Amino acid sequence: MSPVSPTVPVSFEFFPPNTPVGSDKLKTVVAELAAAKPEFFSVTYGVGGSTREKTLATVKAIAEAGHEAAPHLSCVGSTEAGIGEILDTYRGIGCKRLVALRGDLPSGMAVAGEFRYAGELIEFVRRRHGSHWHVEVAAYPEYHPQQRYARRDLEYFAAKVKAGADSAITQFFFNPDAYFHFVDEVRKLGVTVPIVPGIMPFHNYANIARISARDGIDIPRWVALKMEGFMDDTASIRAFGLDVVTRLCERLVEGGAPALHFYTLNQSALVLEICRRLKVAN
Ligand code: FAD
Repeated sequence: MSPVSPTVPVSFEFFPPNTPVGSDKLKTVVAELAAAKPEFFSVTYGVGGSTREKTLATVKAIAEAGHEAAPHLSCVGSTEAGIGEILDTYRGIGCKRLVALRGDLPSGMAVAGEFRYAGELIEFVRRRHGSHWHVEVAAYPEYHPQQRYARRDLEYFAAKVKAGADSAITQFFFNPDAYFHFVDEVRKLGVTVPIVPGIMPFHNYANIARISARDGIDIPRWVALKMEGFMDDTASIRAFGLDVVTRLCERLVEGGAPALHFYTLNQSALVLEICRRLKVAN
């Protein structure tokens, strides 16, 4: 395997822990992942704002440990006053980078609130705080699961970036051609911002296969059948998964990906091993 550039920037995503034990464990994970000198650590925001306080607490803990922390913020079902208050709080504790999302509502909840799409959140962020924020948005190389028309998804993405995004992070994927095609397509629509691949290590194959089936993410057949064939052989799943995802990262970086964003699921081992293989961590 050819080592990729040692300088590829990385970032890491967490979800806010639910328990004090989870919060303590995350501190260790953050310290371990800091070895890869990430540009930032981001923290997700639960569906419909369900983790508002926990996301804030996790962002604060990461910032207090001396790292750049980027909150995710979703807008659907929210009011401008509520979103404005959250933005002010994050700005007040020194945050400068925001992952701005539409989000999804819990099933059964009617769509209410003053925002319909992420683009409207970005416009609001810019109206309220001008250029204070580095705004990240979500991108979907295999298209958003609720969008039937590829062309529309690309056009809405381009409009969302034009509303004031500085860069984008993708949904995870296992087919590098989907990413390269997406980048080519949106460049034709005038999008110039960096589009950073979101990388999902195979933490738990069954879970990743389930989410992929739900959200229309292609797991290549040669990977899926081999993984399924391992059954309960966790050592083989780990070894093969590491090889597949490391090779994916190498191909992405060789093809021009500007950075890599890892979905850590609050665990460091697999992500660190991939970073070591990519020569971005010792
Ligand atoms: P949008 O960009 O608004 O797009 C949503 C859908 O609407 C798409 O189908 C699009 O084609 C369509 N659309 C967009 N604009 C318009 C328009 N003007 N008119 C008509 N249709 C339009 N979810 C969370 O709840 N919390 C998180 O922390 C979180 N973090 C994420 C991080 C990343 C990197 C990614 C890729 C996703 C994340 N998500 C998170 C999931 C995300 O919230 C969902 O995928 C959600 O369904 C879409 O959010 P979005 O910001 O991409 O929406």
